[in-house]
Amino acid sequence: MREFDYVLATSPAHAVETVAGNPDARFLGGGTNLVDHLKLGVTSPDTLVDVSRLPFDEIEECSDGAGLRIGTNVPNSDLAAHPVIRSRFPAVARALLAGASGQIRNQATTGGNLLQRTRCVYFQDVTTPCNKRELGSGCSALEGYGRYNAILGASSDCVATHPSDLAVALAALDAAVVVQDGRGRRRVPIEELHRLPGDRPDLDTTLEHGDLIVAIELPYSQIATRSTYRKVRDRASFAFALVSVAAAIEMDGDRVGDVRIAWGGVAHKPWRAHRAEAELIGRPLTEEAVRAAVDVELADARTGEESAYKIPMLRNTTAVTLTRLAQEAR
Ligand SMILES: Cc1cc2nc3c(=O)[nH]c(=O)nc-3n(C[C@H](O)[C@H](O)[C@H](O)COP(=O)(O)OP(=O)(O)OC[C@H]3O[C@@H](n4cnc5c(N)ncnc54)[C@H](O)[C@@H]3O)c2cc1C
Ligand code: SF4
Repeated sequence: MREFDYVLATSPAHAVETVAGNPDARFLGGGTNLVDHLKLGVTSPDTLVDVSRLPFDEIEECSDGAGLRIGTNVPNSDLAAHPVIRSRFPAVARALLAGASGQIRNQATTGGNLLQRTRCVYFQDVTTPCNKRELGSGCSALEGYGRYNAILGASSDCVATHPSDLAVALAALDAAVVVQDGRGRRRVPIEELHRLPGDRPDLDTTLEHGDLIVAIELPYSQIATRSTYRKVRDRASFAFALVSVAAAIEMDGDRVGDVRIAWGGVAHKPWRAHRAEAELIGRPLTEEAVRAAVDVELADARTGEESAYKIPMLRNTTAVTLTRLAQEAR
């Protein structure tokens, strides 16, 4: 392992200043992703700035009372168990519990979870070409193992998927992150936090180097209380999503009053299915209607031989998830 400096951040401003002033510095949250990458040689920063002791460990109401504010250092397990998360944002609790193992959830932080890096096997294997690890080196996944590849929004430079289950649930519920930089704080909607690969797959998000996530804001809404998360994976203990669905629904009699759908395992970012939502609003909710709406959203999907299974899996998982939610909502 290469040597690096360790700095314990004494304030948010100290953390931001230290990282922003050094292109080879990185924030350290719970370390469950970053430390693995240090060991594998995927990344080799010269300075780690530990932000895990900064006072961002509260879950509280936003100052305007319109939602919940979750500090970036809240452990994933505490967030999943919080009574307001369980009662008003069940999709968030279920997404967290579908991710990793109990021990990892105890260590992993909320901000670190959103910024964890792709699980593309070639990204983690430094003996193979990977444009995300080394821009311009090539993409091994294009002709290689393709079971986990993206089917929406991918580019010829990268076909990796985004790994966070939490981020998918947050995308369905219109959450935002609060980001601090050298000038102050700003809100970034979750849908605008992660990006598609294009010709810069080395960039996972729209954040600048040195931007510190300090909190997540989750707006209260009736529809969020009728939300859920369903993840399809290779094994029940811990594994990343083949596909996942975060959904929320409000019924108006037999018709859909409002609906939210976000998918995981299909793109370089959590994929909010706006076109499918628009297809369903005002219509009777049947499995056939959901499948047809999913197909509208997937009109631009591109699959390979090994990832083609994701289309029927997504159709079926979205249909089962929404029809069960609708039955409960009636
Ligand atoms: C075996 C295993 C299985 C897993 N399975 C799943 C799964 O099924 N689903 C799932 O969603 N996750 C899964 N995970 C991932 C796990 O949830 C993440 O590793 C964890 O959430 C990352 O949080 P952390 O605090 O440890 O981040 P770290 O490892 O500390 O950091 C991750 C990244 O975020 C950056 N960062 C950290 N905090 C901040 C901040 N406040 N502001 C800006 N940047 C920051 C770091 O610089 C780094 O780039 C799994 C992990 C393991 C090891
Ligand atoms: S899909 Fe992306 S992360 Fe995976 S090898 Fe290709 S460039 Fe690297």
